[in-house]
Order: sequence, then C-alpha cells, then structure tokens
Amino acid sequence: MKIARPSVLSLILCLSPAALADDAPIGALLERMEAAVLAGDSAAYLECVDRSHPEWAREQINWAADLAGHTPEAFDMALTGEPAGEDGPAGKVGGLKIRWTLPGGREHSVEFAARFTPGEGGWLFAGEAWTELASTDGQNIVLYLDDGLENTALQVIEAMPEIRGHVDEGFGATLDHPQVIKLYTDMGHLQESIYLSYTDPLGGWNEPGEAIKIMASERMGARQMRTLLAHEYGHVATFTYSPDASNNIPWWAAEGAAELAAEKFAGRRGREAVNEVVRAWANAGRLADWADMADFRETPSSLHGHVYTQGHQFLGYLSERFGRESRNLWLRRLAEGAGVEKATSEAFGLAFDQLDREWRASLEAGPDEADEN
Ligand SMILES: [Zn+2]
Repeated sequence: MKIARPSVLSLILCLSPAALADDAPIGALLERMEAAVLAGDSAAYLECVDRSHPEWAREQINWAADLAGHTPEAFDMALTGEPAGEDGPAGKVGGLKIRWTLPGGREHSVEFAARFTPGEGGWLFAGEAWTELASTDGQNIVLYLDDGLENTALQVIEAMPEIRGHVDEGFGATLDHPQVIKLYTDMGHLQESIYLSYTDPLGGWNEPGEAIKIMASERMGARQMRTLLAHEYGHVATFTYSPDASNNIPWWAAEGAAELAAEKFAGRRGREAVNEVVRAWANAGRLADWADMADFRETPSSLHGHVYTQGHQFLGYLSERFGRESRNLWLRRLAEGAGVEKATSEAFGLAFDQLDREWRASLEAGPDEADEN
C-alpha cells in the first residue's frame, strides 16, 4: 500500500547533495519492502534487510518465508518522524509504524524505534534499534527497547548462567555461540516479529538460529522470568541435536522437553501439578492422541494446552522410567528425523503403541493415586 509521505519529502530536502548521490532515501527502501511483501516475494524483501547479525537474519528469513502462504492484502510501513543519526555503519534510528491486513482479517499495527543502515544499493532495514546488555564473558546478550527494562535485562543476564548450566547438563547439549535474548513489552510486537500471520498469544518464542524472545515487564517476578527463559532455552538445547530439529521433533515432544527443562524453576507449577492434571485427563478419557499434536501449524487450538502439559508429563515419565541418557537419545533421534516409531524402538526397545499403552496404564493405576484425595 503506497501513500504520500510529506515527511520523506522534507527528509530529501534536508540531505546534503553528497548524501543524496550516495544513498536513496529511507522512504524508497520502505516502498520497496511494501511492494515485496504485497507480492509475497520473500527474496525481494530480504534484499532490503541488513542481515549482518545472524539471529536477526534468521528471524527475517523465517518472517519472509511465511509471506508466500499468507500474503497480506494491505501492508504499509511509515516513518513516524525524521530518522536521526549518521550515514556511517551505525545508521539512522527512527520511529517506524507497520500496518497490515491479511485476507479476511482485521488491520494490525505495531510501532517501534527502527534502525536503518547504509548498504551498497541504498538503505537497509536493520530491525529494532535495541539497547544491548552483554554479560562480562560475552556469552549472553540481552536486547531491549524500553528504558524501563534496564533492571529486567540485568536480571536476565544474572539468571542465564544457572539456566544454561542446568539445561545443557540435562539434555547433554553445548551451544557454540552466544545466546541472544530479546525482551518485548507488547505482545503484538512479539507476534509481528515472528511473522505477520502469527496471532496465538505467547509468553516466549524460539526457533533454531533465532534469538530467544520473551514477553517482559518491570513487574515480572524472578520465578516467572526464569521459567520462561528455561523453557525457551530448553528449545535451544534440543535444536542443537540437528539442523532440522524444529521440523522433525513432534510439537508435543518439543514443548514437553522445554517444559521439563523449565520444571526446576517453576516452583508449585512443577511436576506434581502436571501429574495431577494429566491423571485427571486420563480418568476423564480426555488425553489427546499424540498424532493430533505432532505439527505446530496443524494442531487444533483446543489441544494447545495438552501439547505442553501432556507432553511435559510424558517426557517426565520417559526420564523416570528409562533414564536421562535414553530419553536424550530418543529426542536426538527424533531431531534427526528418525520418526516416533524408530526413535522409540532404538532408545527404549519398544513399539510406540506399546509405550503409549503402558504410559496410559501408569496414569490410571499410578501409585500416587491415593494421594489425590
Ligand atoms: Zn515452547
């Protein structure tokens, strides 16, 4: 959607002739991005993006990949003020408002301070103009926009070593690069950063190669923050098993593993509460079929709670029955694309059907049943 932009006109008039010769104005970049998005052309869109930061590059590649299947019928990017800064590598920072409408949907919009950097063919979009806080060893990097989140960012930096130590040990994982964590205060902004068609409510997000993203606030409790971070870092750990882990691990197993990773930090919401809920589902005949929760995009929203809670309880059952090593072998084989049947027979020496039956029986006649009253 193209609209007249008086602010762009004044920007052009303010630039020196040398700058004009070197760089097309930012408004021209935004128009190229709009055209690419409206054409569902992910390659053309990515040409407009500064991809020098690996996490941001991966996030934008995934963002753009969604355009083909969910091409918006309206998409507009507009500066909300004149960008400040220089023509140097740090680029310019200016308010950016993005508005879009998907076919049959309502209009959405987000607004944030954005960075634009000079590229060979003109300005490039470098995403949010984050404030960065890094740990002394450089292994954890927190990015945030809101000045009020300074203390929260510091708490994240302080919490990460313990979380990473616990989760890495549990899953036998090692990360070969610093972990980037982005803090969002607006859920619509976090959703937009995933892709335009993403609308499920969420507290955190991670995909292979992307930053960990969490919803944060100044008032957020330490336990809530650690649980969120540990869940997302649990995904990071299982994604180290294979480059295709995210596509290969059934969704319920990925979320079950992430919930298990966070269990230690969740306090009262830990394993006991999960066992109670899943036993109640078993007794009411309300357990979900695993196959119905395998694919993130195909799972009905009525089963989203089961994905996390039933998956968590099942992963805990596997750990207790077969031990951590076998459970991790099972997850690793899933990540590598072995499929549930093969991974289960290799790791546990059972057919998955048989394992499922034995797990269900453990819920109905569990030794803790008497404790429920
Ligand atoms: Zn998750």
